[in-house]
Amino acid sequence: MTVNILFAARAERWDTYRQPLTEALTAAGLRFDLRTDFAPDQVDYIVYAPNSDVQDFTPYTGLKAVLNLWAGVEDVAPNPTLTVPLARMVDDGLTRGMVEWVTGHVLRHHLDIDTYIHGQDGIWRRDIPPLAGDRPVTILGLGTLGQACAAALTSLGFPVTGWSRSAKDMPGVTCRHGADGLTQALATAQIVVLLLPDTAATTDILNAETLSLLPRGAVIINPGRGPLIDDDALLAALETGQVAHATLDVFRTEPLPADHAYWSHPQVTVTPHIASETRPETASRVIAENIRRGEAGAGFLHLVDRSLGY
Ligand code: NAP
Repeated sequence: MTVNILFAARAERWDTYRQPLTEALTAAGLRFDLRTDFAPDQVDYIVYAPNSDVQDFTPYTGLKAVLNLWAGVEDVAPNPTLTVPLARMVDDGLTRGMVEWVTGHVLRHHLDIDTYIHGQDGIWRRDIPPLAGDRPVTILGLGTLGQACAAALTSLGFPVTGWSRSAKDMPGVTCRHGADGLTQALATAQIVVLLLPDTAATTDILNAETLSLLPRGAVIINPGRGPLIDDDALLAALETGQVAHATLDVFRTEPLPADHAYWSHPQVTVTPHIASETRPETASRVIAENIRRGEAGAGFLHLVDRSLGY
């Protein structure tokens, strides 16, 4: 039987996904029809980007699953018209990209690279940076991306603390969870990396109170989601020196409005949601495998728990 797969994402994405998806679905041994339009009641699976035109799933009466192209699901998980399984994206290419971005930005602050880029003033300053072993890093969110970043930073010698909702055991990483765990995880953190999903429970997780738990002069790196940070509290903490610098890739409103205080703040680095991207070749294999499993009656990989929102 032919499986009907609707590709529902922005038009430019179709150009980059058409070939790798076709190859991956063929390699998975599936007979399929992959298109950007179908009569809704004919669709078996939707390969989905939450910013696509499909927002009402009600007409898709034969739908078996929605396979998200993004790791973040905050814009689709709460959709009340979606009643079939929702899988989020866990893609090796995306993970590797995030590890590179986080490692680069941690090393920038650890080595104080900015001073040497901007400080070519003829003065022979020899402020030797500490070794990584003296620079505790805390990662909020110890899921696919947080764990991969924790492993990379640990391998460079950073003492890494990770914080998650449920208890974890990761070799070489101090694992904390729950409210008390957050207090402990922040108390030692010279650099904090946010890799939490955007849910009701994580909104404003960095606020005036939690920012005050950090050692003075800590650095914040946020490639997670904008709502994880109370922006006014962060700006206030930058003003007092409680936070020395914030490198922000994600924002409550994207693109970040041109008049936002972050753009011109000397202690804020803005990057335009480029920390990591789903990579079509590796992601297509994940999607093909999930459709293969769906057709074989096996459980889907990377299912979202919609009661938790991630
Ligand atoms: P994931 O595997 O679902 O991991 C999420 C982690 O957050 C888990 O460790 C989870 O705890 C923890 N968590 C969730 N709610 C929590 C709470 N209330 N308290 C404490 N910990 C909580 O997600 P992922 O694949 O690592 O991705 C993380 C996020 O990165 C995505 O949701 C997305 O927003 C963001 N992202 C950004 C970019 C970018 O380019 N900027 C790219 C990709 C992804 P448990 O382990 O106990 O479940």
